[in-house]
Amino acid sequence: MSIQLSSYQPNMPSKRMNIMTKPIGSACNIDCTYCYYLSKEELFGHETGCGSRMSDEMLETYIKSYIEQQNHHEIVFHWQGGEPTLLGVNYFRDVVRLQKKYCPKGVTIENNLQTNGTLLTDEWGKFLSKNNFMVGLSIDGPEMIHNAYRTNRSGRGTFKQTMKGLDILHKHNVNFATLTCVNNLTGANPLEVYQFLRDVVRSPQMQFIPIVEPKSFRDTAPQRWKDEEIIFQGMPETEPSHPNSIVEAWCVSPSQWGNFLCTIFDEWLENDIGKINVPYFEASVETWMGRVNPLCTLAPMCGKGLAIEHNGDVFACDHYVYPEYKLGNINDAELEDMQFSQGQESFGKAKEASLPTQCRQCDYQFACFGECPKNRFTKTLSGESGLNYLCAGWKQFFTHIDPYISMIVSTMGYPVHKGINSHAMKYQFK
Ligand code: SF4
Ligand code: SF4
Repeated sequence: MSIQLSSYQPNMPSKRMNIMTKPIGSACNIDCTYCYYLSKEELFGHETGCGSRMSDEMLETYIKSYIEQQNHHEIVFHWQGGEPTLLGVNYFRDVVRLQKKYCPKGVTIENNLQTNGTLLTDEWGKFLSKNNFMVGLSIDGPEMIHNAYRTNRSGRGTFKQTMKGLDILHKHNVNFATLTCVNNLTGANPLEVYQFLRDVVRSPQMQFIPIVEPKSFRDTAPQRWKDEEIIFQGMPETEPSHPNSIVEAWCVSPSQWGNFLCTIFDEWLENDIGKINVPYFEASVETWMGRVNPLCTLAPMCGKGLAIEHNGDVFACDHYVYPEYKLGNINDAELEDMQFSQGQESFGKAKEASLPTQCRQCDYQFACFGECPKNRFTKTLSGESGLNYLCAGWKQFFTHIDPYISMIVSTMGYPVHKGINSHAMKYQFK
């Protein structure tokens, strides 16, 4: 087989890809209550355990295509699961070997690995450090909060194993960020969670993901909900604790989400700005400066981050791994054709095009864009479908941070392009 290296051409328009790679499908060694990906096993009939691994041949095809079909000087691979460390260190040694084999001159390859940390060993630590992997460690907060939903198959909490994994990362100086799922418990304890991540975990970057799943999420793809099941914003059944709630009981409620973000924002602003990166806060600074939010959930378009399963099936997004959103398989189609297909373009543009009037008239549309379409399953007060379940929380957050973000942008010497409260800046930086 002759292999053609992609030619990095600095003067060509940049072609970049960000594909969430699932080399072990949904297989995982633990069994978190709220995991949206474990149910993919049922959806596609995947085998459990390492049986669903991406084969060596498929891995090489994928790595080669992913590199060849980009012309940027930096190529980033994202490894997720399930739990990718179940594949063992040797699998990832092979990944690095193949990346080197196909990497053209002048190009840097980076790797991000998302893990629950429970299988990390010194061998992993050395490998991750030596190969400069950026690790995303899933941890939900102090022991009681983490253990409530992040359990093993016997229902026991995984906090101690995750903390051992964290020790490995610190010991070997591995670059890492934390990923915290904000559910009904995390959402109720914002300061405790934030201070734990800052003072005990010593997280340099804190990513927070709202846990929102309608009860039908295991078998119904987003945007395929029945209209009669969509209820109005603010109705009692939108509360996760309501017996007839439309969402799972472990979800964060809209008001909890708003309160969670506002509380940790205040703590961050008071003590940690410039020291700890909270992407929601730092990305807001860019938005207020008039730039596009780098976080897909708050950007005007979707469609730039595909997902690839262990069998080569490619999907529109990590949150849209449903048969209705399959773009093809790398055995039959080129990655770039799928990434830049008309279907994927329409998927991307639909994010803004399908916003209800309430969002279009919202003071914070520029910062929110109706957040992730997978969460748009409520109706506006005027009866329009397509409103984000978390709308009230997002609005509370953006209204709260507006004067402070305006102040940060002005202090940095940039004009404030967005926001409505810039005249109300009262905060004084220390
Ligand atoms: S569907 Fe959600 S997660 Fe996927 S690209 Fe759009 S905003 Fe991002
Ligand atoms: S805050 Fe609510 S109304 Fe405003 S853009 Fe976001 S989802 Fe729409």
